[in-house]
Amino acid sequence: MTVSFHLCQPGGGASCGACCGLYNFRDHSRAALTERLAEQTAQLRDVPKERGAWRAAAKELVESRREAPLFPAVRVCPLLGFLDDEQRQVGCLGHPQVTGGVELRDCGVYRASICETFTCPSFGWLEDAQARLVQAACPDWYLYGLVITDVEFVRSCLRLIERELGGPAKPEEMVSRPATLDAVRRLFALKETAADRSPYAPIFGRFAPDTEGEPVSRMLNYAKLGVRAAPEDDVVLCLGYDPADAATLTAARERVRLHVRAVARALMD
Ligand code: SF4
Ligand code: SF4
Repeated sequence: MTVSFHLCQPGGGASCGACCGLYNFRDHSRAALTERLAEQTAQLRDVPKERGAWRAAAKELVESRREAPLFPAVRVCPLLGFLDDEQRQVGCLGHPQVTGGVELRDCGVYRASICETFTCPSFGWLEDAQARLVQAACPDWYLYGLVITDVEFVRSCLRLIERELGGPAKPEEMVSRPATLDAVRRLFALKETAADRSPYAPIFGRFAPDTEGEPVSRMLNYAKLGVRAAPEDDVVLCLGYDPADAATLTAARERVRLHVRAVARALMD
């Protein structure tokens, strides 16, 4: 199982900068990240295209950051920015295709050769049709990056849809039916819209930092909550819920269930 197209800049409004550290802050809201990307883009715009100047500018950007990374062990690159004036495409400002031919990625937090060849686990774990569904349902930089890098979320959503349908849910069919694609879009958009989550919790989706600052997968403490596991719980965790009581967990599950049912209904119409 592996995708046959490049997930980072697949077109159609989708683009990603997750492995450059885009979301690695407690406040990884669209507003906060837009502000940071706009700032980095503006600061680097007029810097002469040579390494010494870019290294100095990158250092300055890192030092002026108002928030420390959520996972200290995961690097955050200051060379990530908006590639277009409309702020619709996120990407590397030091890439030769962006600079007009000069290789400036060595001035970021990795060597250019690493940036050039790195592929995240989604390349190996998602199927083509699943990745195409994410691309079609999330035609914007913020949501696409959040969803395409969360294989467990995508697979768990599809599993819930299949459970609701009592049979296979084909991503190709969802892409080809506008009403279904809209419903999938609303389901995936829960990553941004789901209510009753703490926006500043030290959590990113399913993950929280361990003592070394590395991301570790979270679990629900069913004994403490006094409830049994439910099929929606993987999605609930991937959405970044950390329910303190059974009522919050029940409400989160119900929110997921409603969105999954909407997809299934649209498929059956
Ligand atoms: S996280 Fe994956 S899809 Fe996103 S930019 Fe990195 S390699 Fe590409
Ligand atoms: S230099 Fe590398 S890590 Fe930095 S934004 Fe570019 S691709 Fe990402």
